[in-house]
Amino acid sequence: MEAEVKICQNCKQSFRIEEADFKFYGKIKVPPPTWCPECRLVRRLAALNHNSLYHRQCNLCGKNIIAMYHSNVSFPVYCMPCVWSDRWNPLWYGREYNFVASFFQQFQVLQNVVPRGAMMGLYQTWINSEYNNFAQDLKNCYLLFNSDYNENCAYGSEVERSKDCFDIMMVDSCELSYFSVDIVKSYATHFSIDCEGCQNVWFSKNLTNCSNCFGCINLRNKQYYIFNKAYTKEIYLEELKNFDLGSAKVIGEMLKTASLFYLKFPHKFIHGRHNVNVSGDYIYHSKNTHDSYIATESENCRYCMWLLIKTTKECYDYSQFGENAQNVYEALVCGKGINNLKFSAFCVADVFDVDYCIDCDASHHLFACIGLRNKSYCILNKQYTKEEYEKLVPRIIEHMNSMPYVDSKGRVYRYGE
Ligand SMILES: [Zn+2]
Ligand SMILES: [Zn+2]
Repeated sequence: MEAEVKICQNCKQSFRIEEADFKFYGKIKVPPPTWCPECRLVRRLAALNHNSLYHRQCNLCGKNIIAMYHSNVSFPVYCMPCVWSDRWNPLWYGREYNFVASFFQQFQVLQNVVPRGAMMGLYQTWINSEYNNFAQDLKNCYLLFNSDYNENCAYGSEVERSKDCFDIMMVDSCELSYFSVDIVKSYATHFSIDCEGCQNVWFSKNLTNCSNCFGCINLRNKQYYIFNKAYTKEIYLEELKNFDLGSAKVIGEMLKTASLFYLKFPHKFIHGRHNVNVSGDYIYHSKNTHDSYIATESENCRYCMWLLIKTTKECYDYSQFGENAQNVYEALVCGKGINNLKFSAFCVADVFDVDYCIDCDASHHLFACIGLRNKSYCILNKQYTKEEYEKLVPRIIEHMNSMPYVDSKGRVYRYGE
């Protein structure tokens, strides 16, 4: 199909669907979108709360807990031990599909009753790390969000495979670093941005394989530099004594001085390395990935963000997090071995062939289910045989198209929204 310009149902602005986009939609058997990419992103992110945490009670054991859901949400919220326990069964909430009401109304009713976990993540892999969210494999970590495989780290987001780092964002495989953004494979790199393979670096930007640098920008394979000027080791160490780095006032002044210094130098048009044919920002080791932000080892993806863990292939409109994900469309916080997953959120670990699912793990062939684990062939949390499921799903999709949900603003929701 040739490229086409459409009007977004939501913002009424025009947006373009390219020939390659149509191919993708055809391949995963979804209709082309009726909302523009920006509105689709806003719609996805509206369902996401990483770091606003609330005091409330677990609706199963009654304990006071910290949760990402306020106590006034319509559905029950269980603490992590309860939600992973055998004391409840999500199939208790299962119901027949009703061909007289619209799909989205029925799915909303189910969302109002099925219990949800207080936090999101593989809590069994959190050791002494209970105040984190959207995380796995943490040890002695505190207030980390969207972060995995860390030890002794705190106050950060998008922190991966790091140790002893505080106040950090978009950090991968780092150690003993503080107050830095977008640093990779670095050690003792403080108040710095966009650095890779660095050691003992302060107030610097875009350095690669540098050590003992202070207030520098755009350097490669250098050591003992202050504001891009070379020094001997002895003089460098002497010069550094002039800065009282234990003083918050001095740190604040240095941050200002360094950011003004950076402005004198050219900046690369994209944060990225080892890419072929990509557009967006913070893209690494990727190929044919477009309009995407923060992606690593992604291929043939568009309109994606926060694909933090490799690899992601053939995905559109996917916000977080990758880790062997393929054929994903309109998904939020799903990953770790997923394939053919659409219109779903918070589905993690070996999930495939699912549509409109929330909080489902290690499952396949699910349609409009919530909170299922190790299940298959379920619709609206009701168990079917494979044969029944395969007959019923196409009928429901047809019904979604013939009796769409229309909201108060006149926006129409068929299969594919
Ligand atoms: Zn729009
Ligand atoms: Zn509980």
